Amino acid sequence: MIETIFTRIIRGEIPSHKVYEDERVFAFLDIAPLSPGHTLVVPKEPAATLDGLSDESAAAVGRVLPRIARAVIAATGTPDYNILQNNGAPAHQVVPHVHFHVIPKPGDGRGLGIGWPGGRLDAEDGKRLAAAIAARLAKD
Ligand code: 5GP
Repeated sequence: MIETIFTRIIRGEIPSHKVYEDERVFAFLDIAPLSPGHTLVVPKEPAATLDGLSDESAAAVGRVLPRIARAVIAATGTPDYNILQNNGAPAHQVVPHVHFHVIPKPGDGRGLGIGWPGGRLDAEDGKRLAAAIAARLAKD
């Protein structure tokens, strides 16, 4: 497991604007916010991508994400927001330590911009892919 800047932030070796901490989770303001209140929610476990995260850390993050979102809404007065979670450099992940972005969307152009080039799900492809995913899930 490589050590990233987030591990050093969690340890307090690098300063951050912390908003939340418990046994498994650390949350702080993003240093380059897309909008005011842009917050990073990070499991302390240093998994690089979400698929490598333990059930315990995943549950801990899932338990506090809605609470942190509510606090960001209250503090910014912005009710709309995106949750973003990037995995792998081609998917725009820069820091290889799992993190969830909470990004307020104030409605003035700030916040997350998304391209969404949706295709059309072919029935045969859908059947094959759903079966493959379900079969792998049955083994996990
Ligand atoms: P990613 O592209 O990996 O999903 O997002 C990484 C995020 O971490 C970026 O939004 C970036 O601004 C933020 N970030 C990187 N280094 C630091 C840092 O040292 N402190 C804080 N607070 N945020 C950081």
